[in-house]
Amino acid sequence: MNKALFQAPRPPRFGFAVNPLDRLSERREDAAFLAESRAKAEARAVVFCRDMPVLKKTASGLDPLFSLSEAHGLGAARESVLLGAEEDGAPIFGELLDDSAVELRADGSDGFLDKRLLVLPGRDDLSLIDMRSIAVQGLVPPPIVGLMGQAKAILSWHARHRFCPNCGAPTRLAAAGWRRECDRCKAQHFPRTDPVVIMLAVDGDNCLLGRQPRFPKLMYSCLAGFVEPGETIEDAVRREIREEAGVVCGQVSYLASQPWPFPSSLMIGCIAEAAGRDLYVDGLELEDARWFSRDEVVAMLEGRHPDRLTAPNPMAVAHHILQTWVDGSSPLHA
Ligand SMILES: [Zn+2]
Repeated sequence: MNKALFQAPRPPRFGFAVNPLDRLSERREDAAFLAESRAKAEARAVVFCRDMPVLKKTASGLDPLFSLSEAHGLGAARESVLLGAEEDGAPIFGELLDDSAVELRADGSDGFLDKRLLVLPGRDDLSLIDMRSIAVQGLVPPPIVGLMGQAKAILSWHARHRFCPNCGAPTRLAAAGWRRECDRCKAQHFPRTDPVVIMLAVDGDNCLLGRQPRFPKLMYSCLAGFVEPGETIEDAVRREIREEAGVVCGQVSYLASQPWPFPSSLMIGCIAEAAGRDLYVDGLELEDARWFSRDEVVAMLEGRHPDRLTAPNPMAVAHHILQTWVDGSSPLHA
């Protein structure tokens, strides 16, 4: 791999964007290569069940990488995907266990499935911890978070595409896990990534931030929304800002992106130039939105805002959009 091609852009790679694997996409149809990879002693797997990674508890922390024999000891794999190879050539697989491999430690009295209570029976040496907590709390090193995110997104897709959307017949995994095929109607299905724009509208030394009702108390962030069919990234940015806050924007510049495996989005970070500061809050997606000065945003990023307002942590692309803007290095300052 030519490292010069992967030099960090501005802002640097962060969170789920840090992924050390060579995806080996040109080898996915090569059955002999796949069998050889699976037979290698150094092959490892990350294992998921019901969207939750399984982790080994070790003296030095949590370890999500299993040898293939360890992984197979956890239960039958419903699906297995070749994620890629590490720099030393060790293949890494993503394995999805059958839902029945885990059980609830306690029955939720409200009837909801609380995935934090999932356990592998008889395996106190293992934990199931949701991916968001692993990422935000830094429970495993950054490069491993990236490949776990990759595994979660592709395995979630397999779990939800067991039947052909064209004819309803069962589908089967193909291309080392990067395609599903229908034997009845011959349709091929490819994993989806859903583009989401996340953007900062700016007007001189002020920027627009909002609060969704589900945000942690006192946190403000960039506005965001799904790109719709038939829409460009730039138009989605302008539409979402106008829809949620009533602000009209002109020029839109791309800044950075991050895979976001909940379940399989790509967050596309942008900065947009606002035509004015008039705004209204739609009250549906946002419970509040307002303009913030650059000094206020710096205080929020540094955790010293007088009203204790906060901004997203460095796992989120929103954090890096804000940091780039306050540093004066956004494309709109070029
Ligand atoms: Zn079909």
